[in-house]
Amino acid sequence: MTSRADKALVLLSGGQDSTTCLYWAIDKYGADRVTAISFDYGQRHRVELECAAKIAATVGVTYVCLPIDTFSALGGDALTDSEVQVQNELDSVTGLPNSFVPGRNLIFLTYAAAYAYQHDIGHLVAGVAQTDYSGYPDCRRETLDSLQETLRLGMESDVQIHAPLMQKSKKETVELARDLGALDAMGETHTCYNGERPPCGQCAACLLRAKGFEEAGIGDPLLANS
Ligand SMILES: [Zn+2]
Repeated sequence: MTSRADKALVLLSGGQDSTTCLYWAIDKYGADRVTAISFDYGQRHRVELECAAKIAATVGVTYVCLPIDTFSALGGDALTDSEVQVQNELDSVTGLPNSFVPGRNLIFLTYAAAYAYQHDIGHLVAGVAQTDYSGYPDCRRETLDSLQETLRLGMESDVQIHAPLMQKSKKETVELARDLGALDAMGETHTCYNGERPPCGQCAACLLRAKGFEEAGIGDPLLANS
């Protein structure tokens, strides 16, 4: 008999970091106790969701995709608003890239916590990191700690939010993926902000990914596949 303390829900975007977290969760809890969840939030690059579904099927975990079609109605960010191009430069006022979708991780984690509550799952796993990241304020540990407390209060639950990559550089994340046997799956992930496969190699996401693999001295299986 498994209890909620033995089960984890991984927020799987189809990208490199969340896929590494999926392998981390399988290593810790076992594939039969891990569920992966994706959000169809109107992202321009639908390929992400196809990657997520494929990766979940490959490792044999339960997979769910929840529709949240509100972000594009809010407007103004480059990942959901087709009028806005992804810029590599930071906004001069906010200091954030325009790929920042305000509230996204908070909303995803809240939906994930609600799903976990209904399915008797005690652990949430998110691939956010505060090192080497794009400056997204919802990727900080203090944001997650605060949200975890709010979710616990608001749901009368003991849900825990895990962020195994929080303190890791991209290099260390690549090394963790290797150690967890996740490198083959990296070839199925999607990172490029411009939605290109093979990846554009120019956007901030592609550059950060390339830097991590290069520093780890490991070839990116995604590039070998393309
Ligand atoms: Zn790119």
